[in-house]
Amino acid sequence: MADSLVPAATGSPLPHQPGDAHWMRAALAQARAAAEAGEVPVGAVVVRDGQIVGRGFNHPIGAHDPSAHAEIEALRDAAQRLGNYRLEGCTLYVTLEPCAMCAGAILHARLDRVVWGAAEPRTGAGGSVLDLFAQAALNHHTAVTPGVLADEAAALLTAFFGQRRVQQRQQALASHPLRDDALRTPDTLFAAALDCGCPSCFYSDWPALAGLRLHVKDSAGQNPLPAAAARQWLLLPGMPAHQGLFRELAAGLAARGDRVVAPDWLGLGRSDKPKKDQRLGDAQQLAMLQDLIEHLHLDGQQGLVVVAHGDAARLAPALVAQQAALGRPVQGLWLVNPPNAAVPSADYRLWLEQLARKPALDMAAALGSSAIGAEMDADRQQWAAQFPDKGYRAALRAWSRDALAALDAPAMAPAASVQALPVLVSLGEQARWWPAPVDGLDAWLADVATKAGGTGPLAWQRCAGGDWLPLQNSAALLQASRFFDAGAQPAALGLAAAALR
Ligand SMILES: [Zn+2]
Repeated sequence: MADSLVPAATGSPLPHQPGDAHWMRAALAQARAAAEAGEVPVGAVVVRDGQIVGRGFNHPIGAHDPSAHAEIEALRDAAQRLGNYRLEGCTLYVTLEPCAMCAGAILHARLDRVVWGAAEPRTGAGGSVLDLFAQAALNHHTAVTPGVLADEAAALLTAFFGQRRVQQRQQALASHPLRDDALRTPDTLFAAALDCGCPSCFYSDWPALAGLRLHVKDSAGQNPLPAAAARQWLLLPGMPAHQGLFRELAAGLAARGDRVVAPDWLGLGRSDKPKKDQRLGDAQQLAMLQDLIEHLHLDGQQGLVVVAHGDAARLAPALVAQQAALGRPVQGLWLVNPPNAAVPSADYRLWLEQLARKPALDMAAALGSSAIGAEMDADRQQWAAQFPDKGYRAALRAWSRDALAALDAPAMAPAASVQALPVLVSLGEQARWWPAPVDGLDAWLADVATKAGGTGPLAWQRCAGGDWLPLQNSAALLQASRFFDAGAQPAALGLAAAALR
C-alpha cells in the first residue's frame, strides 16, 4: 500500500482520496485552536491505518519557538506516540501548504503522503515558491495532494487576519484618544483608491498637536529614518483637498526611491477636527509642520523640497523662513497653482467668503467654480464627505479667514536666506481659482518666488490642467520635478527659466 503511493519523482500531485476531507476537518479543528490562542490558524493531524496518531497547531509566538509550526508539532506528537522517529505508512493533513522547514521534516520522517488545504503563495514549499517534494535528488519521496477543503482553510486565515486588523485599528484609536472638543471623520468615509498609496501614520504627542491626531502619508512608514541618498518631498495640498490629491505624483516620486511625506492639515482628512476654530489658523498649522519636519527627520542632509499646492502656497514663506532660522534650510520650493494674491479670481474669493460665512455650504457644488473637471468627481465628493456635518468644518472657517486676510494684506517679508533656494512654479492652463496673470507673467513669477523666500534659480511651466494639477497632469509635474536634481537644465525638462528681480 505504502509503496503504491510513492510517485515517481515528478512531483505530480495525487488526486484527492476518500476520507481526505474527513481528516482535513480534524486538522481544521486544530487550526481553530491556534486562532483561539491568538496564533495564525494552521492545524495538522497525522493519520495511520484510519486513526489519528498525532495532532498539532501553529503556536510559535506562545511557545517562543520559531519551529512550532502545526506540522512539526503533529509529527512530534505522532513520533512520541508510535515510539519511532520514522513515520512510514502515515499521512499528514495540514490546513496550509507546508513551508520549507516543515517540508524538510516531512521528508525526514519518511511520510507516505502529505495533504494540504490552502496554498501559501509567500512561503509554500509544495509548489508555490519552490517544490521540495519534487526534488528527484532527495532520497525519500512523499506524495502530495493539495487543495483539500482549501476554501475553508483560507477562510479561517482571512477571518483571523481581518479580526486582527480590527483589533490593531482599535488599539491605534486607543493610543490616539479623541479630545472632547474635537471630532474624527470615520475611516469608512474615505476611499482607499483616492488616497496616496504610502502607509498611513498617526501622531498625537507632538507639542503643536495639543493632543489632536495628525494623519500623515509617509512612504517611509513608521520607520522614518530615510536612506542616505533619498531626496525628501513634503507635499502640502490646497484646501479642501487631503493628501490623496498627490497620489499620482507621490507614487512617481517614491518609485524613484525618494521619500514622500503628505500630511492632512489639522482639521482636514483623517486628522482630528476641533469643534472650535479659534486655535486652528495658519500659526497652528505652521507649528504642526515644524514638528512634522523635526520628528520625521525631514531636515537632514538629503535635501527637503516643499511642494505647496493652491492656497497652501500662502504658508510657504513662513515655512521657508522658519527652517532657515533653525539652520536647516529647505533645499527647494515648488509652487503648484499658486494663487494670484495681487488679483485673486472672483470665483476663489467667493468660495472663501462662503466657506467662512455659510456653515452648511454645499462644498461639492461650490468646488465646481474651480477648474476641477468631471474626471475628478469622485475626489470632489470625497473632499466634501470629510465633513459629515457643519460641526466638522471649524478648520475650514479658520483657513478661509486666514486665506482672505492674506489676499488683503501685503505679504510678510521673507527672512534672508543664506543659500540659493531654487523655485519651480507649475501653472495649469485652464485654472480658474488660481490662474496666472495674462500680462506681466515674468514679473509676477519673480514676485511670487521672491515673496516665498526663493533666491533662485527660478523655472516655470505652463501645462494642461486646471486648479488641481497634481491629479490633472501628474506626468508633466513628474518630469518637471527633475528641476531639483543637481545640474538639471530647465530647458531640457521643457521648463522656462525666469529671472528674479
Ligand atoms: Zn512550516
